[in-house]
Amino acid sequence: MADQNDDQYDTQDDATEDLGVAVTPRHVPKAPIEKIGGRKLKPATLMMGHGYDPALSEGSLKPPIFLTSTFAFENAAAGKRHFEGITGKRPGGADGLVYSRFNGPNQEIFEDRLGVWDEAEDALVFSSGMSAIATVLLANVNQGDVVVHSGPLYAATETLISKVLGRFGVTYLDFPAGASPDKVAEVLEQAKAQAAKNGGKVAIIYLESPANPTNALVDIEGVAAARDQVFDTDDAPPIAIDNTFLGPLWQKPLKHGADIVIYSLTKYVGGHSDLVAGGVLGSKASMDPVRAIRNTIGTICDPNTAWMLMRSLETLELRMTRAGENAEKICAFLRDHPKVEGLGYLGFISDEYQKDIYNRHCSGAGSTFSLFIKGGEAEGFAFLDALKIAKLAVSLGGTETLASLPAAMTHLSVSDERRAALGITDNLVRISIGVEDADDLISDFEQALEAV
Ligand SMILES: *Cc1c(COP(=O)(O)O)cnc(C)c1O
Repeated sequence: MADQNDDQYDTQDDATEDLGVAVTPRHVPKAPIEKIGGRKLKPATLMMGHGYDPALSEGSLKPPIFLTSTFAFENAAAGKRHFEGITGKRPGGADGLVYSRFNGPNQEIFEDRLGVWDEAEDALVFSSGMSAIATVLLANVNQGDVVVHSGPLYAATETLISKVLGRFGVTYLDFPAGASPDKVAEVLEQAKAQAAKNGGKVAIIYLESPANPTNALVDIEGVAAARDQVFDTDDAPPIAIDNTFLGPLWQKPLKHGADIVIYSLTKYVGGHSDLVAGGVLGSKASMDPVRAIRNTIGTICDPNTAWMLMRSLETLELRMTRAGENAEKICAFLRDHPKVEGLGYLGFISDEYQKDIYNRHCSGAGSTFSLFIKGGEAEGFAFLDALKIAKLAVSLGGTETLASLPAAMTHLSVSDERRAALGITDNLVRISIGVEDADDLISDFEQALEAV
């Protein structure tokens, strides 16, 4: 839960101290154990207890689900102090529990644990990946501003930026995911000129890597270098990145120059295809405006979802590691199959620059990839309809293997020209490998390819 001992709370000159009333924060977990001797504990260990003190909940080993809309204040001064955090008079959010649209014990414990993986100063949980993305954009973008983004993005994100923000006088420019830093700098210069003309600023650089469903990687370090070349420090836009496909295990963008990391927690973090949620992580300074908008519009997730996410974090490393190993074995089988035209798998990158980005940014190839079946839509459909273990569904990152055909499903609304430009062909099957037995899955893919 919120760190009560943070220096910034003690150095702020604030009204509650003037009242001369001692405000003891209520839900203060014991200082979390992060080290034993000189050894810094690994995230997999911290997921079992970090941020939760059973003594505060009748000794309950697991955190109870706090089903309440509001929290009783210890005294009036505590109420005032907490609202100073909620309203932004005091940075870092409330240092106590107030009302369930703002915070709650389950959400706060989960946020503390999620932040461990990316070594983020601060983390926020949301009701969906899209509500997380929308809240980040609302917190950063004003009328006349320009959003610069990599392409392609998750379809709903593209709609949000181009169509919804467009209604409020916000424009955008994009560059392809694999663009060089020089190309990115060129687009940023263009955006700067466009913003000046529209009376705004370049508000945010929004990335998604790897891109869906092409798996093209964005050079985060290259984008940060281009940003620093084009902008002075005081007008430099923050770099936000949707890290859903590789995070939080295989890619840690905060280490490579990103300021804000975004997740659809519905995918690998939730990991069981049984909830919808989102997350945003970064420095306290970049999270404060996002928290303020979340407080205002209520895009926080509910306590039950936060509890399920917390349970999921305990097995995150196990699940993602197994899924990654499975994908490696399966892709090795699919690669040489006569009915396979190609694979978009990060373990088999041929492009030199993409390989370089992979080596600098990623510690694993993930378990979501594209399989190009020889032929077109008919062959793709025949393959999907013949699968026996893999389920025919969109989404990814769950314990079960899923397969879909983006051109006919998730990307059906994208125009033919844009699909062609992005390489989203009619024979591209998108597969998310789960934690089943790898050889069982290989048998399933083998028989389904035979049926094509
Ligand atoms: C699923 C997904 C989203 C949207 O998340 P929801 O939880 O469905 O709102 C955003 N970005 C990426 C890359 C996704 O895969």
